[in-house]
Amino acid sequence: MYDPIELSKKTEEIVVRNKSKKYYRFRPTGFYGGISTADTVGCNLRCVFCWSSNSVWNAPNSSNFFTSEEVANNLCEIAFKKNFRQVRVSGGEPTIGRAHLIELLKLIPDNLLFILETNGILLGYDKSYASDLSKFSNLHVRVCLKGATLEEFKVLTGAKNGFEYQLKALENLRDEKINFNVALVSVSKEKHSLFERLQDMKLGKIMIEDEEITLYPKVKNRLEKLGMLDLFR
Ligand code: SF4
Repeated sequence: MYDPIELSKKTEEIVVRNKSKKYYRFRPTGFYGGISTADTVGCNLRCVFCWSSNSVWNAPNSSNFFTSEEVANNLCEIAFKKNFRQVRVSGGEPTIGRAHLIELLKLIPDNLLFILETNGILLGYDKSYASDLSKFSNLHVRVCLKGATLEEFKVLTGAKNGFEYQLKALENLRDEKINFNVALVSVSKEKHSLFERLQDMKLGKIMIEDEEITLYPKVKNRLEKLGMLDLFR
C-alpha cells in the first residue's frame, strides 16, 4: 500500500519540469455536452478501475512536456473550433504540478468554464491550494470520491490513506466558496454513512453524481486478474 501524498511528490518529479507538464493528447469530447479536453500524465492514486492505463502506471515513458501556454492554446483552439464553452484536464490528476495548473487557469479566458476533475487529495491535504483556486471565477471543481468509506477507498485505490483528504477537500472548497460537485465511485450498498457525513458538512446544495465505470478491455482485464470484475458488472 502507498501514501498518496508521497506518490504525488514522486509523480510530480516525473511529470513536471519547471512549469511544464506531461500531456499525451488534446481532443474534443462529448462529455458535459461538449468540452475541450487535455489529457495529462501522472496520478497520485492507482484506482483498480482506472481507464488511463499508461499515463498513470507508466508516467516516466509517457508523452511530452507542454507549457501552460501551449496547453491553454490547444484547449482554446479546440473550444473555439467546436463552439464549446468548457475546457478540462483529464487522463491523470490535474492538481499535480500546482504552479503549472494555476498558470494554466490564468490563461483560460473568462468566457470558457474550466472544469477541474480531481480526486481532491491535494486540495484536502493543503488548504492553501483551494485558496489559490478561489481566485478564478470561471472554475468548477468536480471531486470524484473513490469509495463511500475508508475501507472501500483502500480496496478501490490500493492506498493506505487518503479518504479523509478527499472529504477535507470538500470542506476547503466550501470554505473558499468555490463551485463544486461530488462524483462517487462506489460498489458498496452501505453509502448512508457517507451521505450523513456530507450532510453534516453543510456543503450547501451540491450535485452528487454516480460515476459510471466503463469496462474498457484493459480495465476488464485488470479487474479480472484482481478477482474484482463481478463487483463492477
Ligand atoms: S484518480 Fe482517476 S486518474 Fe487517478 S488512478 Fe484513479 S481513476 Fe485513474
